[in-house]
Amino acid sequence: MICSNVEHIRAVIRETALRCGRGPQDIELVAVSKRMPADAVDAAYQCGQTVFGENYLQDAEEKIRQCDPSVRWHFIGHLQSNKARTAAELFQMVETVDRLKIARALDKYAGRCSRKLDVLVQVNVGREPQKSGVLPEKARTLLREMQALPNLRVRGLMTMPPYGRAPDASRPWFRALRILSEELARDNLFYAKEKVALSMGMSGDFTVAIEEGATLVRVGTAIFGKRPA
Ligand SMILES: *Cc1c(COP(=O)(O)O)cnc(C)c1O
Repeated sequence: MICSNVEHIRAVIRETALRCGRGPQDIELVAVSKRMPADAVDAAYQCGQTVFGENYLQDAEEKIRQCDPSVRWHFIGHLQSNKARTAAELFQMVETVDRLKIARALDKYAGRCSRKLDVLVQVNVGREPQKSGVLPEKARTLLREMQALPNLRVRGLMTMPPYGRAPDASRPWFRALRILSEELARDNLFYAKEKVALSMGMSGDFTVAIEEGATLVRVGTAIFGKRPA
């Protein structure tokens, strides 16, 4: 089941990309395995899925040790400073940097294990008080300050838009993130100006996200099924 789901999502990504004139290889599928057992990760890995997203650090720590060492892990949850060390050690990318304090902590611990850590800055495009993410107008300052951190590579932006029942409700938010990324890229605030990452879109709206420029889509339920409570 997991395997055919992965294949199906890959096919949809491919069709969507081609339909809007993009290269399917420019869109990476992040399989969100939060609250799913290591077995589920293995099943997806067996059919070629190599990148997985986790929200809960404790959960992830155990899973990462159990899974194949060539699996790549993205942290997509809210990160506290006291967990920055574990995140910097275990994850290939942290998608949810939204304040300088956490950026500094990740930089410090990445440095201690002599690695460069890929990160995204999470933007709260919908300005929802309950959500993490830097406000759009504060993103530039944060990115400027992060330039001073030698062990972080700021690859792009990530967002979780306000919940909408229809996939198309997310479109304006995705578009806003892309426009913001273009403005910031003009000011040379990303590690690689020509290849700015945009992580947006989940099971319900990833095709809309691809149409609006996503380079990473985070899909959980549509691959693994409903998560245990
Ligand atoms: C859970 C989660 C997802 C995946 O959501 P689905 O609707 O299950 O695809 C994507 N991104 C983040 C940040 C999440 O927490």
